Amino acid sequence: MAERIGGLRPVSEDNAAAAARLGSTALALDIVGVVTEAPALRRITVGDPRLRDVEWHPGQDLTLSIPTGGRPVRRRYTIRRLDRDAATAELQVLLHGDGPGARWATAASAGDHLEAVGPRGKIWADPAAQWHLFVGDETFLPATFAMVESLPSGTPAIVALEVGDDIGEQPPDAAADVTGPLWVRRDRGGGSSDNAQPAEGVDGTRLAQAVAGMELPAGPGHAYAGGEHRAVAAVRAALIGRGLPPEAISAKAYWRRDKPNQGHGEPERD
Ligand SMILES: Cc1cc2nc3c(=O)[nH]c(=O)nc-3n(C[C@H](O)[C@H](O)[C@H](O)COP(=O)(O)OP(=O)(O)OC[C@H]3O[C@@H](n4cnc5c(N)ncnc54)[C@H](O)[C@@H]3O)c2cc1C
Repeated sequence: MAERIGGLRPVSEDNAAAAARLGSTALALDIVGVVTEAPALRRITVGDPRLRDVEWHPGQDLTLSIPTGGRPVRRRYTIRRLDRDAATAELQVLLHGDGPGARWATAASAGDHLEAVGPRGKIWADPAAQWHLFVGDETFLPATFAMVESLPSGTPAIVALEVGDDIGEQPPDAAADVTGPLWVRRDRGGGSSDNAQPAEGVDGTRLAQAVAGMELPAGPGHAYAGGEHRAVAAVRAALIGRGLPPEAISAKAYWRRDKPNQGHGEPERD
């Protein structure tokens, strides 16, 4: 059960400097609720009175300072919902196996504290688009659903998320006209909750095939892609192949299959 957030706590100098550099807000978060939504997905609700006043576009994330015992590492998690009255943000974290972020999420419990910077990120729903297409893996689920849930009633939104069988099948709670495939299933080879293996086959092949075969509405639309970095490149190529102009595609690598993300939270570039 979610508890009330504590009062306003001071932020560290390091965090204030990072926030100034990133042009966002330094936060001192309390964890106020943790729910295991599916074997590999935890919803973690964090609070800070500063969240009442932040500027937020659905699709943006919080960059958390993850405690490691030594120097913290930054890891980015998308805000699935922001509740300004309660001054809380909900995150959905994939328990993919082993890494500081996944370990933190597995152990997180109400009453823990951590620092963060946010909201931040440059991708949110394009208000000029007549339809929207979302393609990615589990890590892109919170961004996809936050954006889909922000769309006006009846707006066409096509969703293709490649997920393992340990994620659940909770659809978005949206007024938009959501069509599938919605879930593109991947066999993780066991699908246990303590899955220590990175997801097999996350190379974008299934998602690129889904993009190649889907019916796209007429008129100007916008496509959003997020997930494993080579998969995102494959999806982007498939979108270009469908005739979308580059400016109508917002693609972002969230993680790399062969390497941990860097200390500032981004996957290494090639
Ligand atoms: C803007 C942005 C928003 C994001 N939003 C979310 C979000 O809402 N929810 C979410 O769960 N993630 C999200 N991510 C992805 C998340 O930040 C990364 O997956 C992060 O690297 C996980 O940190 P870690 O410390 O657990 O693993 P790392 O230290 O980065 O990696 C350790 C090992 O785990 C592997 N690994 C990392 N991620 C995965 C994965 N997804 N599946 C399989 N193997 C993996 C790596 O290849 C490496 O071998 C987002 C990333 C970005 C850039």
